[in-house]
Amino acid sequence: RAPRVPLMAGNWKMNLNHQEAVVLVQKLAVTLSDKKHDFAKAEVAVIPPFTDLRSVQSVVSGDRLGIKYGAQDVSVHESGAYTGEISAGMLAKLGCSYVVVGHSERREYHAETDEVVNAKAKATIKGGMTPIVCVGEGLDVRKAGEQVTHCLAQVDGSLAGLTAEQVAALVIAYEPVWAIGTGEVATPEDAQEVCHAIRERVREVHGDASADAVRVLYGGSVKAGNIGGIMAKPDVDGALVGGASLQADEFGGICRFY
Ligand code: PEP
Repeated sequence: RAPRVPLMAGNWKMNLNHQEAVVLVQKLAVTLSDKKHDFAKAEVAVIPPFTDLRSVQSVVSGDRLGIKYGAQDVSVHESGAYTGEISAGMLAKLGCSYVVVGHSERREYHAETDEVVNAKAKATIKGGMTPIVCVGEGLDVRKAGEQVTHCLAQVDGSLAGLTAEQVAALVIAYEPVWAIGTGEVATPEDAQEVCHAIRERVREVHGDASADAVRVLYGGSVKAGNIGGIMAKPDVDGALVGGASLQADEFGGICRFY
């Protein structure tokens, strides 16, 4: 993974108001500093709800090499009569580096298809930010042994029409749905199998440079205690972390996996 800097991204989901967000980011900054975290060894990003972004920005602004942040979703539209939607332009203006697109909770509860995820990834890139494109199989697919085929179809659909350069610069997160928020972590071998297959699909479609540059994360019940084994796998370039990212100490431990 030499040229790829790992990314640890904490998805807060629908948790923490703007005051609690300030407290958590401040604690995280202190924890990372106490642990002598080297941001060159792992990039750190928090992904708070939209309403916390401005507060998070106020804590970390001016520290561009330190904690980054992003959003959990984005509109496919640029502006206009789309009540309740948030555009990529608005997120970029708030200093977001990343946007999570196609999280399994959005796919499941908001019926987001690969086509929608693809449009959101394109909107994010157009806005000058980096999409974290989520894919992952449910338990039924895993039991049928179809996880690789399933995830590669999601990758194909979600990245359709992107250039080799755009794919090289983005982040793909493999998150088996059965491992999200369940405490049931995939084994490092499970994570490696699908992350490797994803990278090889990128190689097939976009060539070596994109495959060697694209970062592929694992997500699903990651904790400070299990991140080491997962990160030891050559095709895993970091983690998308849910529950554990709400605790500064635990998330700090994940960031300091090396
Ligand atoms: C997630 O929702 O992206 C996730 C990985 O959640 P958790 O870490 O809580 O399983």
